[in-house]
Amino acid sequence: MHPRIDYNKCVGSLECYDICPVDVFDAEEIEEGKRAVVARPEDCVECELCVQVCPTDAIKMIED
Ligand code: SF4
Repeated sequence: MHPRIDYNKCVGSLECYDICPVDVFDAEEIEEGKRAVVARPEDCVECELCVQVCPTDAIKMIED
């Protein structure tokens, strides 16, 4: 399993990027500021902290 970000919901808080213990996310520059991207899904340890901290419920775990 690894996270997928719904960019219709993402507001660029970078909470997932900040909390991930194994650095799955990168912070990408966009016009409006920054947003997290799932850069290393293979490193995910399925702790689901990113799912829990997302303020807009934009992250779901999906099958590899
Ligand atoms: S589930 Fe845990 S390890 Fe996987 S991306 Fe989210 S915070 Fe990182």
